[in-house]
Amino acid sequence: MPLPSIRMGRVEDNGNCNCGLSPTHTFLQGAETLMSSSEHGNAQGNPVGYPADWDTRALRRNWLDHLQDLIEEQEASIPLKRIEYQLEQSTVYHDIMQRWPKMDGSQRLKAWKLLLEYSEQAARDILPTCVQCGECCRRGSPTLHIEDLELLKEGRISWDQLVTLRQGEPVRSPLQPKIFFLLDERIKLREKPETQECVFLESSTDRCSIYTDRPLQCRAQACWDGSAAKQLAEQAYLTRRDLFAHVELLLDVIAKHHERCSFAKLQEAVKRVEQDGENAAHKLVELLAYEDHFRNFFSEQFNIPRDNLDLIFGRSFAELVPIFGLQVQVEADGRRRLVPDRAR
Ligand code: SF4
Repeated sequence: MPLPSIRMGRVEDNGNCNCGLSPTHTFLQGAETLMSSSEHGNAQGNPVGYPADWDTRALRRNWLDHLQDLIEEQEASIPLKRIEYQLEQSTVYHDIMQRWPKMDGSQRLKAWKLLLEYSEQAARDILPTCVQCGECCRRGSPTLHIEDLELLKEGRISWDQLVTLRQGEPVRSPLQPKIFFLLDERIKLREKPETQECVFLESSTDRCSIYTDRPLQCRAQACWDGSAAKQLAEQAYLTRRDLFAHVELLLDVIAKHHERCSFAKLQEAVKRVEQDGENAAHKLVELLAYEDHFRNFFSEQFNIPRDNLDLIFGRSFAELVPIFGLQVQVEADGRRRLVPDRAR
């Protein structure tokens, strides 16, 4: 099961470009190479080919390859998608793409050179603002801060779109690629299970469907400069205690759930299976069944919609156990048993 990511980032609107792209690099190196390869023929059968022979798809593919090379050579932190998105909005790009099919060989060479020249310049002058390319949102959903509480109170983000990551759960962050264990809980927007994209990212348009009501972390993130993200990480995160501050009974139930079904308990039970075998496996299955029962019971008692349970109690043990390479299988007679997680 993919681990949830904890994503951070922040806009620093100082007007300076921090893209890390060196002004000395020239895309035109690419153009010269291609031109000279055309002059000397393509003896090695280089798949890059000659611009005059490209259709618009090949033009675009070669253009993206050059953008990627530039980023890699300069070790720039900007994602390709961000530069691509900015350039695609330009009239130079549109004009060349539109006229390309009708250009002759020498016009194509000139256009290719212009496109590279323009791309190099635009990449250096990357806009210090969010252009909604969707790249940050594809890397995971944001973690909420205290300042986001109003968004939840006013119903601009509904509870069924939230999930609690409890103390001790393993997570990872784009800022810290190594898995680490949470010292205290976090509340996050849900992620799409297959891709880990934020649930509010519209796949067809790459746009945020709650852009004007997006959380603090989304407002702060900047793919061209991650320094401010670290500052934001110092600010207080939202917890269930803040969210349910006036529902004492619910806080009591959450505390009971933690006492009996903490992530540490699950971890310990799995460890015992590795050491003691079958008997411990039965106990683990019992623990999973108990946690499931706990959720269902309180869902019915308090009339809590089932899609709110991941916020109130965190992810279920059944959802977490694949972290340990296991999964729960429910037999025809309703009995549960542990089997290796086939997705791993
Ligand atoms: S809430 Fe919107 S801006 Fe924030 S990560 Fe999700 S899609 Fe992106």
